[in-house]
Amino acid sequence: MDSAEYERKIAARFATFDQDGNGYIDREDFSAAAKAVLAEFGTTARSDRGQAVFAGAEAFWQGMAGIADVDGDQRVTREEYITGAAKRLRDNPERFAEIARPFLRAVIAVADEDGGGATPAAATRVLRVLGTPAELAGQVATALDGDGDGRISENEILSAFSAYCGVEAPDA
Ligand code: CA
Ligand code: CA
Repeated sequence: MDSAEYERKIAARFATFDQDGNGYIDREDFSAAAKAVLAEFGTTARSDRGQAVFAGAEAFWQGMAGIADVDGDQRVTREEYITGAAKRLRDNPERFAEIARPFLRAVIAVADEDGGGATPAAATRVLRVLGTPAELAGQVATALDGDGDGRISENEILSAFSAYCGVEAPDA
């Protein structure tokens, strides 16, 4: 991977987390993501599943801040993301994905409308409300179902998420 491609990938990952696009990642981005998912599936914030999504989003933010908010101002700038998160992601993407596990687990529970597990169609809706372009969302959701059984498990999402986050830096 050359450095232009690396820059492009890092920018895309940063934009994924910067849900409101204001140039930094903070708690608001995570609570906005939680709200968007709950609204899509008609789940109230007060319900058990709704509370689990918000708690997962907060834990995800705390984990992100612990890794990347170097100056402790409760905002992760693009620089902090690149030097902090991207380095950790590269060194240990699985460990990074673990901070997302409670959120991903809670989102799957909300998206699981028939109790049999989240389908690729439900995952497509989640990806779309989190800002994935429509033309990509279905494709990504289908790929998430790694074993092709029509349901997306927590481990399938976690391994896809760590692969997505684990951007290799070019040799400097
Ligand atoms: Ca933001
Ligand atoms: Ca900061």
